Amino acid sequence: MEIIEVQYNWANGFIPRATTDAIVLHHAESPRCTAQDVHRWHLDNGWAGIGYHYFVAKDGTVYRGRPRDVVGAHVENHNWHTIGICAEGNYHPSDRIPVDTQMPVVQKNSIVGLCHELLTVYSGAQILGHRDLLATACPGEYFPLVEIQQAVRNGQNIQEVLSMFPDTNGHWAAQDIEWLRQKGIIKGDEQGNFRPDQPITRAEVVSLLARTLRTLGVQ
Ligand SMILES: [Zn+2]
Repeated sequence: MEIIEVQYNWANGFIPRATTDAIVLHHAESPRCTAQDVHRWHLDNGWAGIGYHYFVAKDGTVYRGRPRDVVGAHVENHNWHTIGICAEGNYHPSDRIPVDTQMPVVQKNSIVGLCHELLTVYSGAQILGHRDLLATACPGEYFPLVEIQQAVRNGQNIQEVLSMFPDTNGHWAAQDIEWLRQKGIIKGDEQGNFRPDQPITRAEVVSLLARTLRTLGVQ
C-alpha cells in the first residue's frame, strides 16, 4: 500500500511506543481537510504536531502522520499502546458543520487495507473506534466501523474487498469484470458499484470501445 510522506515541522521530539495492541479509528470531524490541516490544529493544541499516525483522505489516499513506532496524541490515556488512523470527513450528525452520511468506498477500502498491513506488523491488535476507549462520538454514527472491523477480520477476503466491485461478488461474469477493471477498461459508478445487470447506453459503449482501443495502442 502506498503511503504518502508529508513534510511536517514538528514542535517536539517523540517517545518510542513499546506496545501496540490496538488500532484506533477516528474521523477528522471536518468534511474537507488535509493531513497538514490536522497537523496545524494539533500544533495549536500545544502538541508536537499531528497526533495520528495516518490520515486517509476521501479519495482513498493514505498520508503518513507521526512515525509509526512513536507514541501518538489521539486517545487520552491510551496513546502509549495504540496506533491512530484519522479519516477525512465528518461522520457524525451536526448542525454546525456539513455531515458525511456515507463513507466513499475508496476511503473505506484504504482504511481496511491499512489496518490489514498494520496487522502484519502488530499481529493480534484490535481494531477499535475512538469511542470504544473514551466518552466521545468519534468516529461518528455514520462511520462504517463494524463493516471495517469485519472486513479486516475476514483476512482472506481482503483482496476482494480491496479490488472487486462490491456488487459483482459471486456474479457469473465476476472474473472477466475484475480482469477488465484491472486493465482500466471498465469503471464503476460514483458509489464504486459496477451494476452488472443494468443496460448499457450508446455513450457508454463508445467510451468503452475508446478505452479498449487506446489500451491496444490505436492512435
Ligand atoms: Zn477521535
